[in-house]
Amino acid sequence: MMREANVAVIGAGYVGLVTGACLSYVGHRVACMDKDEGRIARLREGRIPVYEPDLDDLVSRGMRGGRLTFTDSFDEVVREADVVFIAVDTPQGEDGSADLASVGAVARSIGRALAGVRRSPLIVANKSTVPVGSGDYVSMLIREGAEEAGERVHFSVVSNPEFLREGSAVYDTLFPDRILLGSEEREALEAMRSLYQPIIEQDFPTRISPRPKLQVPFVTTDLASAEMIKYAANAFLATKISFINEIANLCELVGADVTEVARGMGLDERIGPRFLSAGIGWGGSCLPKDVSALRAIAREYDHEPTLLDATAAVNEHQRRRVIAKLQRDLHTLKGKRVALLGLSFKPDTDDLRDAPSLEIARALHALGARAVGYDPVAGKAAARLVPELLVVFDPYEAIEGAHAAVVITEWDEVRSLKPKRAASLMREPKLLVDGRNALDPATCREAGLLYAGFGRGC
Ligand code: NAD
Repeated sequence: MMREANVAVIGAGYVGLVTGACLSYVGHRVACMDKDEGRIARLREGRIPVYEPDLDDLVSRGMRGGRLTFTDSFDEVVREADVVFIAVDTPQGEDGSADLASVGAVARSIGRALAGVRRSPLIVANKSTVPVGSGDYVSMLIREGAEEAGERVHFSVVSNPEFLREGSAVYDTLFPDRILLGSEEREALEAMRSLYQPIIEQDFPTRISPRPKLQVPFVTTDLASAEMIKYAANAFLATKISFINEIANLCELVGADVTEVARGMGLDERIGPRFLSAGIGWGGSCLPKDVSALRAIAREYDHEPTLLDATAAVNEHQRRRVIAKLQRDLHTLKGKRVALLGLSFKPDTDDLRDAPSLEIARALHALGARAVGYDPVAGKAAARLVPELLVVFDPYEAIEGAHAAVVITEWDEVRSLKPKRAASLMREPKLLVDGRNALDPATCREAGLLYAGFGRGC
C-alpha cells in the first residue's frame, strides 16, 4: 500500500536530508521542508549544505526524477503526506538535558496544518533523538495544535530512531544494521514496514558488490523502549571509547601498548574490535549531547548514573591530556606554534559540533600558543567558530615552523602524512602528539619526530 508513498521530512540537516534522499532513491516521493529558507533555496539549486559522501549524487538523481523536492511550505507538505518524519535538531540544553523546542514547534504546527483539511490518518515518525516519553509529548502537542483550530485529527506518532553515522550516512541509511520502530499501534507499524520494504528487502539498485546486506532486521517495540534504545546505544559506544582510554592511560603507566591491548581484546567476539581506539576521545553532534541527556534523565528520577558520569569525566580528561602532553615536552606554551591536523569531529564530515579541535584551539590560545589548523573540508567553518585559530589549507603549511603538531582527526590526508617531510619543516623539539594513534611511532621517530601517542610510545 505504501509502495510509492508521499513522504514529508521536516528538517533538512544531516539526518533529514539523507533520509529524504535515500527514501526518494528507493522509490518514494519525498518533500523536504526546513525553516531555514536560505538552505531550501540552495538545495533547490542543487547545492548540498552538508558534506556527506554520495549525498550530492542521490539528491541530484531524486531532483531530476521529480521524486525529491524542497520547500519551505510546511502546511502543504504535511497535508499531502502519508508519513511525516520529524528530523529537527535536539541540542543540549543549559542543564544538560535535550532541548525539545524544535520538536515541540514542529508538533504543534503539524496539528494546526492537519486541522480542517485532513480526514485520513497520518503517521508522524520521529527521527530526532528525544528523551523517553517524547512520543507522547509530541502526540499531545499535535492534538493541542489541532484543537487550537477547533478540530480533532487522526494521526499516529511512532518513534523511528536514527543510527546513521556522519561520514557514511548514505551507506548507513541504505544498508542499516536494523530499522527500529516504536509504537503501540499495529497498523502504524505495518505501514512503516511497508514504507521501508525496499530497504528491508534490499530491493534497489546499487553499484556496491557484493551487496553488504541481504535483508535488514525490522525491529518493533513499544514507544518508550525505542526511545531508550537510541540513548542506550550511544551511551554504550561512548563508554566503550572511554573504557579503552582509561586502559590507555594505565598502559602509559605500566609501559604497555594500548593498540596491542585493543587488538588482543577485540578478537574476543564478546568484545569486538570497533570503538576500541584510544586517543582524544569522543565528540560530535550526538555522543556528547546524548550521554548528557541520559544523565539528565537519570537525575530527573533521582538516580545517580555513576557509570555514565565516569564515561563523560574520562572523555573531558582526554582532551586536557593533549595540552598536558604538549606542556611535558614544550614546557611553556607561550610563543609556541602548534599545528592541529584535522578539525572536524571525525573524518569524512564537515561537522564541528563539540569537536575536540575547537576546545583544544581555545585552550592553546589561552595559554599563549599560536594554533594553526588544517582540515580538508571544515577549515573555514572552524576559523569562524574560533577566530584565534589560524586556518590553512595544506597539512604541511600548518606544520611549517611548528614546534609541535597534534593529530586531532584521522582524515586520509592526515594519516598519509610523510614524517620525514614533516620533520624537515618543523622546529625543535618537533613533537608529534598523535591524538588518534594514527601514525607509526617507529617511522615517526626514525624521521626525527618526537612521537607521543595515547597509551603507547610516550
Ligand atoms: P541538523 O542541525 O543538521 O538539522 C536540523 C535541521 O532542522 C536544521 O536544518 C534546522 O534548520 C531544521 N529545523 C529546526 N527547527 C525546525 C522547524 N521548526 N521547522 C523546520 N525545520 C526546522 O541536525 P541533525 O544532525 O540532522 O540531527 C537531527 C536529529 O537527529 C537530532 O535529534 C539528532 O540527535 C538526531 N541524530 C543525528 C545524527 C547525526 O549523526 N547527525 C545521527 C542520529 C540521530
